[in-house]
Amino acid sequence: MEINLKGQTAIVTGSSTGLGRACAMGLADEGMNVVINYHSSKVEAEDAVSEIQQRGGQAIAVQADVSKEDDVERLFQTCLDTFGHLDVLVSNAGLQSDAAFTEMTLAQWNKVISVDLTGQFLACRAAARIFKKQGVHEHGRAAGKIICMSSVHDEIPWAGHVNYATAKGGVKMMMESLAQELAADKIRVNSISPGAIQTDINREAWETEEALDKLLTLIPYGRIGEPEDVANLCVFLASDVSDYITGTTVYVDGGMMLYPGFRFGG
Ligand code: NAD
Repeated sequence: MEINLKGQTAIVTGSSTGLGRACAMGLADEGMNVVINYHSSKVEAEDAVSEIQQRGGQAIAVQADVSKEDDVERLFQTCLDTFGHLDVLVSNAGLQSDAAFTEMTLAQWNKVISVDLTGQFLACRAAARIFKKQGVHEHGRAAGKIICMSSVHDEIPWAGHVNYATAKGGVKMMMESLAQELAADKIRVNSISPGAIQTDINREAWETEEALDKLLTLIPYGRIGEPEDVANLCVFLASDVSDYITGTTVYVDGGMMLYPGFRFGG
């Protein structure tokens, strides 16, 4: 199995930290040029660029809020101006703003929907327009590959996080509809749906022993995920090794989707 991504270019949204950063490193290690998109953490984004350069790769950092159309257009144009082409989008940026449903403000609802769902729409649309224009080219069998960072909560309902679960449920249907619509253009679209991976977004779920023990009751495989668990799949989905896979959601969750409560019998 040969992962041949050398010379190809990826944009990874929200990649100054967490899963986005790990995906960016994984893709860069396979020889891709990487655009590190960040919202406000410039120092961390520049640090990610330096790390890629130290590992022998090429990268730039571009500030853009994925929920703003003009920002997203500028992000993609900067990529083309710098590297000349685009081959992979990892639509990863996301956030949470949690509240009990009856306490949730419209601002909290709008914030999460605008970044986690509309932000993915804007990024996927920009990528698909470029891929269609470029067509199938020397770099691979597909004209382009889109990887949406979804969540187990595109399937599992989540009390206290209705805005987030709704956004991720929307991402699942958006990804599948896009995959269906864009297949004839040789554009592949898939989702990665992580369970609990150790990053800042879910710090309160793993930073104390008590919290981690509680979390592990939901994970049959018995450990919290690491960002590299997600990055490995990202590299696979970005490469031609997965050329016949489109419209699929791959759960990277240590079995969280397997109704873990039932393993104790009943
Ligand atoms: P994280 O907080 O480290 O990363 C999220 C990134 O998105 C941050 O770098 C943040 O600055 C960026 N971001 C937020 N708003 C943005 C905006 N408007 N424009 C551009 N960037 C923005 O957390 P993470 O765990 O790495 O999350 C990455 C993705 O993975 C998210 O979509 C999240 O929903 C998803 N996810 C994470 C887990 C997990 O267990 N960590 C599980 C399921 C899904």
